[in-house]
Amino acid sequence: MRGLFVGRFQPVHNGHLKALEYVFEEVKEVIIGIGSAQVSHTLKNPFTTSERMEMLIRALDEKGIPRGKYFLVALPDINFNSIWAPYVEAIVPKFDIVFTGNSLVAQLFRERGYKVIVQPMFRKDILSATEIRRRMIEGEPWEELVPKSVVEYIKEIKGVERIKMLATDLEKNEKELQAPLRIPEF
Ligand code: NAP
Repeated sequence: MRGLFVGRFQPVHNGHLKALEYVFEEVKEVIIGIGSAQVSHTLKNPFTTSERMEMLIRALDEKGIPRGKYFLVALPDINFNSIWAPYVEAIVPKFDIVFTGNSLVAQLFRERGYKVIVQPMFRKDILSATEIRRRMIEGEPWEELVPKSVVEYIKEIKGVERIKMLATDLEKNEKELQAPLRIPEF
């Protein structure tokens, strides 16, 4: 049996790995769909698709999951929920079951007739990509929430510096927007 597991992985963390471990127990092969593939360099989606793929490969290698057991597929968003499930079917190899933490993803695949397993993320309070990005911006420790190989990779690509730059840029832009418009005197 083949499963589809969709996420944004911004960044890959121990919660994704725990969820994936469960998926690998349930099915023989897993298609890992990388959602919002067209987006990068934003506060919500700082990493590119290729960087997220690299994180997944390194994290799964670290866990001892053979590369032959999964496929990584980029899934750019389309602004059209009602045809998103058939759109995904057109991009990835055939699958029998869907694993997700996103209720919209679950709904769209259920309506398409798939069996869907919604997994609650383990320790959601801290094992969350949003929390990890927040800690990176605030200079708080985030490394314990992420597989070692992913910590090393994020350091290699200067990922924390990128997120901090994006946060500073956003703050600067917000200040500029809030500043009163100066009309030059003639
Ligand atoms: P999300 O809405 O960013 O995440 C939903 C929540 O589920 C997050 O808290 C996430 O944690 C968590 N999560 C992610 N994968 C999980 C898993 N396998 N098991 C348990 N919890 C999990 O969405 P997403 O589920 O990560 O990714 C869905 C992707 O599908 C997005 O890129 C979305 O844009 C795309 N999509 C597109 C369309 C369209 O184009 N019309 C329609 C539907 C969905 P973390 O934040 O910690 O990762």
